Amino acid sequence: AKENGKNQFKFFEWKMNHTKNRRLAIEQALHAALEERQFHLVYQPIFQARTRQIISMEALVRWQHPTMGAIGPDEFIPIAECTGHIIPLGEWILHQACSQLHQWHCDGMVMVPIAVNLSVVQFNQERIVEMIRETLERTNLAPEYLVLEITESMAMNNNHSIIDRLQQLKSLGIGISIDDFGTGYSSLSYLRRFPVDTLKIDKSFVHDLCVSSSDTAIVEAIIALAKSLKLCVLAEGVETEQQLQILAQKGCTDMQGYWLSHPLTAEQIESMYLGEMNR
Ligand code: C2E
Ligand code: CA
Ligand code: CA
Ligand code: CA
Repeated sequence: AKENGKNQFKFFEWKMNHTKNRRLAIEQALHAALEERQFHLVYQPIFQARTRQIISMEALVRWQHPTMGAIGPDEFIPIAECTGHIIPLGEWILHQACSQLHQWHCDGMVMVPIAVNLSVVQFNQERIVEMIRETLERTNLAPEYLVLEITESMAMNNNHSIIDRLQQLKSLGIGISIDDFGTGYSSLSYLRRFPVDTLKIDKSFVHDLCVSSSDTAIVEAIIALAKSLKLCVLAEGVETEQQLQILAQKGCTDMQGYWLSHPLTAEQIESMYLGEMNR
């Protein structure tokens, strides 16, 4: 038993070093990644369930490192938030998404808004509103076509400057969406004070919709809440027709997920949605 414990400790030690080394490697690699153009965006269409028509899309960042290969945003975004790399990276993402959408509009593609994820670290920047306004100006994108996705924990923050910033963004005409809704704290009173437009039901609730009665209850509660506050409600992580049907029947109109479309490259979006328009 003692030998076993020792081996187990060795394993944890190895795993810890491994995790630490990987983290360090990612930190190091982040320095050059932006300049060396290792990032690109993919776009996941969001649909109106009833018509199966595209109503918006979400920009998601991808990182292809020359030796480490593809590194997922769930892994590198938290690290970039710690190191501060998220500031220039987030600016690049916003600029890229806005200029791409503007380009698509010019090319005659169906006009739908684009949702861009905003890190809390970005949002705490004093210049955040200025940065966003300037990006819209430089890319010639009308503010009505930009939606910012912020997380629930960020929205929960009672900070006046946060409410202030959101209000300013809202007055510019930008949409605000609360991502991963339902996973944060349970106090919902903040929603009354918050200038938000959309609640995004977290995919963890959608996933077990058919099997877990508590998840079903949560989804129903979120839809009812959105309705009574006159907010839009969007379900993410829709992976089956059955989930889509249940959500639709419960009154959720907008959906995103692998069942309807995976995130697509810019080229794939063009061949799917530009072609459609020109025909
Ligand atoms: P998120 O904002 O909640 O994004 C949704 C994630 O769910 C994406 O993963 C998307 O590819 C994935 N997804 C879409 N449909 C389905 C489905 O049907 N089933 C399942 N299981 N998953 C689905 P991704 O692209 O790996 O991004 C993970 C997270 O990384 C995002 O979660 C977001 O928090 C962060 N992230 C991604 N791109 C950006 C970005 O440009 N900026 C910032 N700040 N964060 C980003
Ligand atoms: Ca999101
Ligand atoms: Ca989400
Ligand atoms: Ca998430």
